[in-house]
Amino acid sequence: MNRFAIAQAKSFEDASKVVGDKKYSLAMIKAGGIDLIDLLKEGLIAPDVLVDVRRLRSGKEPIVASGEEIRIEATTTLAEIASSPALKSACPALAQSVESAASPAVRNAATAAGNLLQRPRCWYFRNEQFNCLKKGGPTCFAVEGENRYHAIFGDGPCHIVHPSNLAPALFVCDATVHIVGAEQPSLPIRYLYHTPDKGVRSESNLPAGAVITHITCKPAKASGFYAIKEKQSFDWPVVAAAVALELDGNTITKATVCAGAVAPIPWEMRNVSNALRGVDVTNDEALSKACKSAAAGAKPMSDNAYKVKLLPVAVKRAVLLAAGRKLEVES
Ligand SMILES: Cc1cc2nc3c(=O)[nH]c(=O)nc-3n(C[C@H](O)[C@H](O)[C@H](O)COP(=O)(O)OP(=O)(O)OC[C@H]3O[C@@H](n4cnc5c(N)ncnc54)[C@H](O)[C@@H]3O)c2cc1C
Repeated sequence: MNRFAIAQAKSFEDASKVVGDKKYSLAMIKAGGIDLIDLLKEGLIAPDVLVDVRRLRSGKEPIVASGEEIRIEATTTLAEIASSPALKSACPALAQSVESAASPAVRNAATAAGNLLQRPRCWYFRNEQFNCLKKGGPTCFAVEGENRYHAIFGDGPCHIVHPSNLAPALFVCDATVHIVGAEQPSLPIRYLYHTPDKGVRSESNLPAGAVITHITCKPAKASGFYAIKEKQSFDWPVVAAAVALELDGNTITKATVCAGAVAPIPWEMRNVSNALRGVDVTNDEALSKACKSAAAGAKPMSDNAYKVKLLPVAVKRAVLLAAGRKLEVES
């Protein structure tokens, strides 16, 4: 790990000035530091300054979820999101997306903005020894190599999956990230990420020097999130699904579906949204049939076809949670 200085920012504006200051070779924002410190230790980044924003707030409360708009501070921790009674009522998918993410210790330190901007977990990317596409190398080693946890959607050329649980949940709630240090003051979450063909070295479209201050989204009382993991703690999902519904009685009149851990970006599933429209959530057969469409268009690699089978299950369970129905099978 290289030597670096730590700057304590007094405000997000302050932080963006340091990050944009050309006198540093690389100044980076540090929030909870969970991913950033890993990247430093893995030798993947070598900043000369870390700008600590962990204690900054742009508003008074970490979460405001009482009116027409939900507001979450950038530095709100995953633990605060998971345990907020207001959020559990106004937008259950958000709380559910992080309640079992990582471990209690990680959730107490990890922040909302840091979760959205964490780098992928691909073992070739994370291993200094592999000069993969993402690090400027010639090839994506996952294509011929170990690809159990890689993408089943997206056409490469890099086959990472986006690791954030919060991102698909925010996606179905039509979220916007608010920023300082850039020309535009905000970026809808659907435009926060780009596919590898639009730039393989990064995942986000956040302008250089921009700092996220807070996130807003619409309440979605009928929303749910379901992740399938190999183990229930200290792990990332192998597939995840976030769903927001509008219901007329038991009938779905509108559905927004976004999958996680299956593509290089949070993967919107319009075909599933269409298939779910008009489905009675108490009709198990119709619901399963609509959710099966989550597998359509998947292009599994040599070791990850199991994800194609799991994704419709995650979608169906997220729909049932969103509709306030009991899950018959707990994983
Ligand atoms: C064992 C383990 C299991 C995990 N499982 C899961 C899981 O299941 N699901 C999941 O989603 N995550 C999981 N994680 C990842 C973890 O949630 C993230 O690493 C964490 O949320 C990152 O947040 P942070 O505040 O620590 O960010 P940092 O590490 O401080 O920062 C991450 C990135 O975000 C940038 N950044 C942070 N804040 C801002 C800001 N305000 N503006 C601009 N840029 C900013 C930083 O510069 C850096 O590039 C797991 C981690 C571990 C260690």
